[in-house]
Amino acid sequence: MEFDTLCLHANHDKGNHYGAITTPIYQSATFAHGSIEEASEYSYSRLSNPTRAHLEKTVAALENGVAAFAFSSGMAAISTVMKLFSVSDHVIASADLYGGSLRLFRKINTAEGMQFDFADTGDIPSVEALIGEHTKAIFVETPSNPLMYVSDIAALSSLAHRHGLLLIVDNTFLTPYYQKPLDLGADIVIHSGTKYLGGHNDTLAGFAVVKTKELAEKIAYVYKTIGAALSPFDSFLIERGIKTLPLRMDRISANAQSIAKWLRCREEVKKVYYIGFADHKGYAVSKKQSTGFGGMISFEVESRALAEQILSGIRVFQYAESLGGVESLMTYPMRQTHADVPEQERLERGINDRFLRISVGIESEHDLMEDLRQAFES
Ligand SMILES: *Cc1c(COP(=O)(O)O)cnc(C)c1O
Repeated sequence: MEFDTLCLHANHDKGNHYGAITTPIYQSATFAHGSIEEASEYSYSRLSNPTRAHLEKTVAALENGVAAFAFSSGMAAISTVMKLFSVSDHVIASADLYGGSLRLFRKINTAEGMQFDFADTGDIPSVEALIGEHTKAIFVETPSNPLMYVSDIAALSSLAHRHGLLLIVDNTFLTPYYQKPLDLGADIVIHSGTKYLGGHNDTLAGFAVVKTKELAEKIAYVYKTIGAALSPFDSFLIERGIKTLPLRMDRISANAQSIAKWLRCREEVKKVYYIGFADHKGYAVSKKQSTGFGGMISFEVESRALAEQILSGIRVFQYAESLGGVESLMTYPMRQTHADVPEQERLERGINDRFLRISVGIESEHDLMEDLRQAFES
């Protein structure tokens, strides 16, 4: 089956007896066993639940993984995956990362005894230079949040495997519709399902998808023990979102392309960060490893006053955290997603008081451009 069909029919077994077209919400914490000798397929919803299992099989199929685990948030997925490591294990991560991932690595995992180095994972020699005796994994976001750096997944995966490391890729921004890290050699794919997979800004979710049975067993053990499982109702919502993933991504990408070009032509805009520009540093790698550019654009305007004017002037776009939903959103990373990054580091990276990030939605392109125009000119 092709990807668009898989989004609806990756798993025909809906586990119901009535022919319901959508997967029923099995809102049950526990499940009765047939007899003392006979354990039923499901026992307790922290371990697994039929609605969630259906969603997990769908996500595993979309990412070409052997198994997927659905979590109560993207951060729950990343936190659980990091439990594969222990004291003194070293991980090399992209320097440009989702703020919550940075906080987890730097504060919580570091306090637990793990070690981290942050690198431009688009530059293979600089990653290789950091590999040491205790290195266990490379963790990348590509494209990255919010500066849109692109890393070459296939090149990183051969580097990782030459040194016996795991390659973990946060695939939230492009989704398996545009990019399949496991096919390119990664071992674990992470998602904030809150974003494009769910796609409606209505619930939180996270995923870890693995390439091997061995990794699936290790994660299953941590998963059932830590208990950050996605609820049956949220599993239903995310599964419903996934059905329209290709349609939404096509529309979002087309809108984003036009908006990025428009922003680039404005004199007040100093820089536009968008992976779909032919002169983006990672363009050749994007063309090789992804089939689309997605809906994320960051840009820097000429003054703080203008950034604030735009944020207060937008009417169709909304000033809100998060991304990947049908509604277009604009964020001020300095104040929101990256507020916890030390100021000097933030400024060095370009996340200053003139820097805005937009997540393009599915509204009409005309209305979105008109909204930006009036916010720029108001
Ligand atoms: C939002 C996000 C996360 C965290 O996901 P939550 O669902 O908010 O916990 C992780 N990685 C990326 C790239 C994100 O955008």
